Amino acid sequence: MPYTIIDTCTGCTACERRCPTRAIHGVKKDMFYIDPELCIDCGACGVVCPDESILDTFGRLCLQLTSTQRPKAYVELEKCTGCIYCANTCPFNCITMKKAPSVLEGLGLAKTVAVIETSKCTGCTVCEIDCPYDAIHIWRQDDPRALENKIHNKQLWDDDSLQSNDEESA
Ligand code: SF4
Ligand code: SF4
Ligand code: SF4
Repeated sequence: MPYTIIDTCTGCTACERRCPTRAIHGVKKDMFYIDPELCIDCGACGVVCPDESILDTFGRLCLQLTSTQRPKAYVELEKCTGCIYCANTCPFNCITMKKAPSVLEGLGLAKTVAVIETSKCTGCTVCEIDCPYDAIHIWRQDDPRALENKIHNKQLWDDDSLQSNDEESA
């Protein structure tokens, strides 16, 4: 069942602006509606609705989340093969491919990996669904797995830049 909007909607347009499939329509300050044919159940609309007027797939009211709680995409660099599927399907163009940290390359893993431009990501789940290697996950930003992933990936990239600084000064 697709997401739906209930009659407490005040037509603020926040959901319409965030929907990756343009499934939400309406006239400002009137009740908006979701086209069930276009909705992919991603939940990106529910977390921004200030009136909490959006029901999820199970008919539950979605809670508005702060910008630091909303779900985002996280890449497990060790699992990413650099296949580019996610970068090609992201509706917001927030995935780019970058040279993998050298420690991964040294282990025979991917030469390039997916990197998320977090500020643009709506947590729409399209990439998570499309990744054939279970390497990309949508987690709330305050989920311990998200924090762990962030620290782990930062460490890999930091080790890389330390190494290239050493090479430059050698
Ligand atoms: S759940 Fe996702 S696809 Fe469906 S209306 Fe909301 S933002 Fe659009
Ligand atoms: S789809 Fe998965 S494996 Fe392919 S580049 Fe994206 S995260 Fe990596
Ligand atoms: S969840 Fe994935 S596909 Fe959706 S906006 Fe974020 S990076 Fe793009």
